[in-house]
Amino acid sequence: MNNVKLLKIGGSIITRREKEEPTPDIENMERVAEEIKQGLSKNEKLVLVHGAGSYGHPIVKRTEIHKGIETEEDRINFAETQRLQNELNVLFTKKLIQQGVSAFPFQASASAIRDGELKTMEVDLIRKLLEENMVPVLYGVPAYDEEQGCSILSGDEIMPYLAKELNAGLMLHGTDVDGVYTSDPNEDDSAELIAQIDSLEEAKNYLGGSKHTDVTGGMLNKIEKAFDLGKDCIIFNANESGNIEKVLKGDRIGTYINII
Ligand code: ADP
Repeated sequence: MNNVKLLKIGGSIITRREKEEPTPDIENMERVAEEIKQGLSKNEKLVLVHGAGSYGHPIVKRTEIHKGIETEEDRINFAETQRLQNELNVLFTKKLIQQGVSAFPFQASASAIRDGELKTMEVDLIRKLLEENMVPVLYGVPAYDEEQGCSILSGDEIMPYLAKELNAGLMLHGTDVDGVYTSDPNEDDSAELIAQIDSLEEAKNYLGGSKHTDVTGGMLNKIEKAFDLGKDCIIFNANESGNIEKVLKGDRIGTYINII
Protein backbone atom coordinates (compact mmCIF):
# COMPACT_ATOMS: atom_id res chain seq x y z
CA MET A 1 0.00 0.00 0.00
CA ASN A 2 1.51 3.30 -1.10
CA ASN A 3 1.58 6.74 0.42
CA VAL A 4 0.38 5.82 3.87
CA LYS A 5 1.21 8.50 6.39
CA LEU A 6 2.07 7.42 9.91
CA LEU A 7 1.80 10.01 12.63
CA LYS A 8 2.46 9.50 16.31
CA ILE A 9 1.26 11.97 18.88
CA GLY A 10 3.21 11.58 22.11
CA GLY A 11 1.39 11.01 25.37
CA SER A 12 2.85 14.28 26.63
CA ILE A 13 0.73 16.15 24.06
CA ILE A 14 -2.73 14.75 24.77
CA THR A 15 -2.32 14.21 28.51
CA ARG A 16 -0.75 16.11 31.38
CA ARG A 17 2.16 13.77 31.57
CA GLU A 18 3.65 15.16 34.77
CA LYS A 19 0.52 14.08 36.74
CA GLU A 20 0.44 10.87 38.77
CA GLU A 21 -3.26 10.42 38.06
CA PRO A 22 -4.60 9.95 34.50
CA THR A 23 -5.24 13.53 33.35
CA PRO A 24 -6.25 14.36 29.77
CA ASP A 25 -5.27 17.61 28.11
CA ILE A 26 -8.59 18.25 26.41
CA GLU A 27 -7.65 21.65 25.00
CA ASN A 28 -4.59 20.20 23.32
CA MET A 29 -6.57 17.22 22.02
CA GLU A 30 -8.95 19.64 20.34
CA ARG A 31 -6.11 21.59 18.74
CA VAL A 32 -4.36 18.41 17.59
CA ALA A 33 -7.60 17.07 16.11
CA GLU A 34 -8.21 20.32 14.25
CA GLU A 35 -4.68 20.35 12.84
CA ILE A 36 -4.97 16.74 11.69
CA LYS A 37 -8.18 17.62 9.87
CA GLN A 38 -6.53 20.67 8.26
CA GLY A 39 -3.37 18.78 7.31
CA LEU A 40 -5.12 15.83 5.70
CA SER A 41 -6.03 16.09 2.04
CA LYS A 42 -8.97 14.28 0.48
CA ASN A 43 -8.61 10.48 0.21
CA GLU A 44 -5.21 10.56 1.90
CA LYS A 45 -4.30 7.45 3.92
CA LEU A 46 -3.36 8.14 7.52
CA VAL A 47 -2.73 5.95 10.54
CA LEU A 48 -2.50 7.66 13.90
CA VAL A 49 -0.74 6.29 16.95
CA HIS A 50 -0.85 7.95 20.34
CA GLY A 51 1.10 7.56 23.53
CA ALA A 52 -0.25 7.01 27.03
CA GLY A 53 1.26 9.86 29.05
CA SER A 54 -0.25 10.02 32.53
CA TYR A 55 -2.79 7.31 31.56
CA GLY A 56 0.00 4.75 31.30
CA HIS A 57 3.46 5.48 32.60
CA PRO A 58 2.69 6.09 36.31
CA ILE A 59 0.44 3.02 36.70
CA VAL A 60 2.92 0.76 34.91
CA LYS A 61 5.79 2.05 36.99
CA ARG A 62 3.76 1.59 40.18
CA THR A 63 2.46 -1.91 39.41
CA GLU A 64 5.43 -3.15 37.34
CA ILE A 65 3.21 -5.13 34.98
CA HIS A 66 5.82 -4.51 32.25
CA LYS A 67 7.91 -7.13 34.08
CA GLY A 68 5.15 -9.71 33.74
CA ILE A 69 2.08 -10.94 35.58
CA GLU A 70 1.90 -13.71 38.18
CA THR A 71 -0.60 -12.84 40.90
CA GLU A 72 -4.29 -11.97 40.81
CA GLU A 73 -3.32 -8.42 41.73
CA ASP A 74 -1.04 -8.30 38.65
CA ARG A 75 -3.88 -9.51 36.46
CA ILE A 76 -6.22 -6.84 37.80
CA ASN A 77 -3.53 -4.21 37.14
CA PHE A 78 -3.07 -5.53 33.59
CA ALA A 79 -6.82 -5.26 33.04
CA GLU A 80 -7.08 -1.79 34.56
CA THR A 81 -4.08 -0.45 32.64
CA GLN A 82 -5.62 -1.69 29.39
CA ARG A 83 -8.98 -0.14 30.27
CA LEU A 84 -7.33 3.21 30.98
CA GLN A 85 -5.68 3.26 27.53
CA ASN A 86 -9.06 2.63 25.94
CA GLU A 87 -10.50 5.50 27.96
CA LEU A 88 -7.82 7.87 26.64
CA ASN A 89 -8.38 6.61 23.09
CA VAL A 90 -12.12 7.25 23.40
CA LEU A 91 -11.49 10.85 24.51
CA PHE A 92 -9.04 11.53 21.69
CA THR A 93 -11.03 9.82 18.91
CA LYS A 94 -14.12 11.73 20.05
CA LYS A 95 -12.28 15.01 19.40
CA LEU A 96 -11.06 13.75 16.02
CA ILE A 97 -14.55 12.69 14.96
CA GLN A 98 -15.98 16.03 16.08
CA GLN A 99 -13.49 17.69 13.73
CA GLY A 100 -14.61 15.48 10.84
CA VAL A 101 -11.75 12.94 10.88
CA SER A 102 -13.02 9.37 10.33
CA ALA A 103 -11.04 8.14 13.34
CA PHE A 104 -11.42 4.42 14.05
CA PRO A 105 -10.36 3.28 17.54
CA PHE A 106 -8.03 0.31 17.06
CA GLN A 107 -6.82 -1.65 20.06
CA ALA A 108 -3.48 -3.17 19.05
CA SER A 109 -3.50 -5.51 22.06
CA ALA A 110 -6.68 -7.19 20.76
CA SER A 111 -4.42 -9.08 18.32
CA ALA A 112 -0.80 -8.34 19.31
CA ILE A 113 1.51 -11.10 20.55
CA ARG A 114 4.84 -10.11 22.07
CA ASP A 115 7.79 -12.06 23.36
CA GLY A 116 10.11 -9.30 24.46
CA GLU A 117 9.28 -7.62 21.16
CA LEU A 118 6.25 -7.43 18.93
CA LYS A 119 5.91 -10.73 17.02
CA THR A 120 2.57 -10.35 15.29
CA MET A 121 -0.34 -7.98 15.10
CA GLU A 122 -3.40 -7.65 12.86
CA VAL A 123 -2.53 -5.41 9.93
CA ASP A 124 -4.80 -6.72 7.14
CA LEU A 125 -7.75 -5.04 8.77
CA ILE A 126 -5.82 -1.76 8.99
CA ARG A 127 -5.14 -2.00 5.24
CA LYS A 128 -8.81 -2.61 4.55
CA LEU A 129 -9.85 0.30 6.77
CA LEU A 130 -7.40 2.56 4.92
CA GLU A 131 -8.89 1.46 1.61
CA GLU A 132 -12.21 2.70 2.99
CA ASN A 133 -10.51 6.02 3.90
CA MET A 134 -10.90 5.39 7.60
CA VAL A 135 -8.18 6.65 9.94
CA PRO A 136 -7.19 3.85 12.34
CA VAL A 137 -6.09 5.25 15.70
CA LEU A 138 -3.78 2.90 17.59
CA TYR A 139 -2.19 3.52 20.97
CA GLY A 140 0.39 2.21 23.39
CA VAL A 141 -1.06 -0.66 25.44
CA PRO A 142 -0.16 -3.44 27.83
CA ALA A 143 -0.19 -6.55 25.64
CA TYR A 144 -0.08 -10.33 25.85
CA ASP A 145 3.49 -11.60 26.09
CA GLU A 146 4.35 -15.28 25.52
CA GLU A 147 7.19 -15.23 28.03
CA GLN A 148 5.72 -13.30 30.92
CA GLY A 149 1.99 -12.91 30.32
CA CYS A 150 2.11 -9.17 29.85
CA SER A 151 4.54 -6.55 28.61
CA ILE A 152 4.17 -3.08 27.16
CA LEU A 153 3.51 -2.51 23.49
CA SER A 154 4.42 1.15 23.16
CA GLY A 155 3.31 3.56 20.48
CA ASP A 156 6.98 3.83 19.54
CA GLU A 157 7.04 0.07 18.85
CA ILE A 158 3.77 0.11 16.91
CA MET A 159 5.16 2.83 14.59
CA PRO A 160 8.01 0.86 12.96
CA TYR A 161 5.90 -2.33 12.82
CA LEU A 162 3.24 -0.48 10.83
CA ALA A 163 5.81 1.41 8.75
CA LYS A 164 7.17 -1.93 7.60
CA GLU A 165 3.87 -3.73 7.10
CA LEU A 166 2.16 -0.81 5.38
CA ASN A 167 5.29 0.23 3.50
CA ALA A 168 5.04 3.80 4.75
CA GLY A 169 7.84 6.04 3.53
CA LEU A 170 8.28 8.12 6.62
CA MET A 171 7.45 8.00 10.32
CA LEU A 172 6.27 11.28 11.83
CA HIS A 173 6.85 11.60 15.57
CA GLY A 174 5.11 14.46 17.33
CA THR A 175 6.67 15.04 20.72
CA ASP A 176 7.02 17.85 23.28
CA VAL A 177 10.36 19.29 22.11
CA ASP A 178 11.34 20.80 18.74
CA GLY A 179 13.36 17.75 17.73
CA VAL A 180 16.65 16.19 18.74
CA TYR A 181 19.05 18.55 20.50
CA THR A 182 22.72 18.29 21.35
CA SER A 183 21.53 17.46 24.89
CA ASP A 184 18.18 17.32 26.71
CA PRO A 185 16.66 20.80 26.12
CA ASN A 186 14.55 20.41 29.27
CA GLU A 187 17.70 20.29 31.34
CA ASP A 188 20.31 22.18 29.37
CA ASP A 189 19.64 25.77 28.25
CA SER A 190 22.55 25.71 25.83
CA ALA A 191 21.22 22.64 23.95
CA GLU A 192 21.03 23.22 20.20
CA LEU A 193 18.52 21.75 17.79
CA ILE A 194 19.93 19.36 15.18
CA ALA A 195 18.32 19.66 11.74
CA GLN A 196 19.38 16.26 10.44
CA ILE A 197 20.88 13.08 11.84
CA ASP A 198 22.58 10.64 9.48
CA SER A 199 23.80 7.89 11.78
CA LEU A 200 22.83 6.10 14.97
CA GLU A 201 26.24 6.91 16.48
CA GLU A 202 25.51 10.61 16.02
CA ALA A 203 22.12 10.21 17.73
CA LYS A 204 23.72 8.37 20.65
CA ASN A 205 26.06 11.31 21.23
CA TYR A 206 23.13 13.63 21.85
CA LEU A 207 20.67 11.45 23.69
CA GLY A 208 20.45 10.50 27.29
CA GLY A 209 17.00 9.54 28.50
CA SER A 210 13.62 11.10 28.74
CA LYS A 211 12.94 13.24 31.79
CA HIS A 212 9.46 11.89 32.55
CA THR A 213 8.31 8.60 34.03
CA ASP A 214 8.81 6.47 30.97
CA VAL A 215 8.91 2.71 30.87
CA THR A 216 9.29 2.47 27.14
CA GLY A 217 12.61 4.04 26.30
CA GLY A 218 12.18 7.63 25.11
CA MET A 219 13.78 9.55 22.29
CA LEU A 220 16.79 7.33 21.55
CA ASN A 221 14.48 4.34 21.25
CA LYS A 222 12.50 6.02 18.43
CA ILE A 223 15.69 6.71 16.49
CA GLU A 224 17.17 3.26 17.07
CA LYS A 225 14.01 1.70 15.70
CA ALA A 226 14.12 3.95 12.61
CA PHE A 227 17.70 2.83 11.90
CA ASP A 228 16.85 -0.85 12.59
CA LEU A 229 14.05 -0.70 10.10
CA GLY A 230 15.70 1.60 7.56
CA LYS A 231 12.86 4.13 7.43
CA ASP A 232 13.37 7.88 7.65
CA CYS A 233 11.63 9.72 10.38
CA ILE A 234 10.83 13.25 11.47
CA ILE A 235 10.82 14.26 15.11
CA PHE A 236 8.95 17.50 15.66
CA ASN A 237 7.15 19.52 18.31
CA ALA A 238 3.44 18.68 18.32
CA ASN A 239 2.90 21.20 21.12
CA GLU A 240 3.66 24.06 18.79
CA SER A 241 0.52 25.25 17.01
CA GLY A 242 0.54 24.59 13.28
CA ASN A 243 3.30 21.98 13.28
CA ILE A 244 1.08 18.92 12.86
CA GLU A 245 -0.64 20.48 9.88
CA LYS A 246 2.75 21.44 8.39
CA VAL A 247 4.29 18.01 8.79
CA LEU A 248 1.23 16.31 7.30
CA LYS A 249 1.48 18.61 4.30
CA GLY A 250 5.10 17.57 3.79
CA ASP A 251 7.04 20.45 5.35
CA ARG A 252 10.42 19.60 6.84
CA ILE A 253 10.39 20.74 10.44
CA GLY A 254 12.15 19.52 13.57
CA THR A 255 14.86 16.90 13.15
CA TYR A 256 15.06 14.72 10.07
CA ILE A 257 16.43 11.23 10.74
CA ASN A 258 18.01 10.33 7.46
CA ILE A 259 18.71 6.63 6.92
CA ILE A 260 21.29 6.33 4.20
P1 ADP B 1 7.00 11.11 23.71
O1 ADP B 1 6.47 10.54 24.99
O2 ADP B 1 6.36 12.39 23.31
O3 ADP B 1 7.05 10.13 22.61
P2 ADP B 1 9.73 10.99 24.78
O4 ADP B 1 9.57 11.23 26.24
O5 ADP B 1 9.98 9.61 24.33
O6 ADP B 1 8.49 11.63 23.99
O7 ADP B 1 10.91 11.92 24.24
C1 ADP B 1 10.86 13.32 24.38
C2 ADP B 1 11.76 13.76 25.52
O8 ADP B 1 13.10 13.37 25.28
C3 ADP B 1 11.82 15.26 25.70
O9 ADP B 1 10.77 15.73 26.51
C4 ADP B 1 13.21 15.47 26.33
O10 ADP B 1 13.12 15.77 27.72
C5 ADP B 1 13.91 14.12 26.16
N1 ADP B 1 15.28 14.24 25.64
C6 ADP B 1 16.39 13.72 26.22
N2 ADP B 1 17.49 14.03 25.53
C7 ADP B 1 17.08 14.78 24.47
C8 ADP B 1 17.77 15.41 23.36
N3 ADP B 1 19.08 15.32 23.21
N4 ADP B 1 17.01 16.09 22.45
C9 ADP B 1 15.67 16.16 22.57
N5 ADP B 1 14.97 15.59 23.59
C10 ADP B 1 15.66 14.91 24.53
